[in-house]
Amino acid sequence: MKQTICTIPVTDVFIEKDGCPFCRLEKKLEESYARYITGDAKMEPTVRIETNKTGFCKHHLQLMFEIGGRLSNALILESHLQYIIDNCFKEEENVKKIKGEAAQCEKLFHSCFICQNVSEDLQRAMETTAKLFVKDESFKKLYSAQPFFCLEHYSAMIKTAGDILGKKDFLEFAEVTKRITLNHLKELKGDVTHFCSMFDYRNAGGDFKNSKDSIERSAVFLNGPMDFQTK
Ligand SMILES: [Zn+2]
Ligand SMILES: [Zn+2]
Repeated sequence: MKQTICTIPVTDVFIEKDGCPFCRLEKKLEESYARYITGDAKMEPTVRIETNKTGFCKHHLQLMFEIGGRLSNALILESHLQYIIDNCFKEEENVKKIKGEAAQCEKLFHSCFICQNVSEDLQRAMETTAKLFVKDESFKKLYSAQPFFCLEHYSAMIKTAGDILGKKDFLEFAEVTKRITLNHLKELKGDVTHFCSMFDYRNAGGDFKNSKDSIERSAVFLNGPMDFQTK
């Protein structure tokens, strides 16, 4: 399923130059899985068995509601709710079993069909990225021209490259990845400092320059894309 339905070519993602490439890929994958499970796969028994067991996190359930029709979502939830009734609420007069069933419910809060699949696909995409960087000069150029990597994907990318590349290739890859990320980090820090300084009465009427949205841009760097309600 992952190979045919929700595989997004890594090179395509790197052609764009807007924000963190892995955040872009993550968003595309999330939408692609939400569309898949509320679309053709909603009646697919093998997918249903999996979604019944894992359920969905709040963020992805919301996405499924936005992307899929109400009936599709109802069909998926109907069998997920039945799964919970059958597995977590059996009539047992047994203390240990009741506690075990409640623990099963708790597990559902930490599992999500979309999170699980997106995370596996992202990991594979990072492995492909490191390999392409080494063997494909034109991809190396695309990679090196990215505006930044968010903190989460920077650390994951360095870890992945460290696991699969030889020392020389890793050092070249890490140098580029680190430089891009640190340059962005320093620029953000400078913009936030400038933003703060604009609240000093001595700078009243001064130019905010590029600092007005520096808080939001810092949050994106630290935690990935967000829906902001700016004042
Ligand atoms: Zn990212
Ligand atoms: Zn999720």
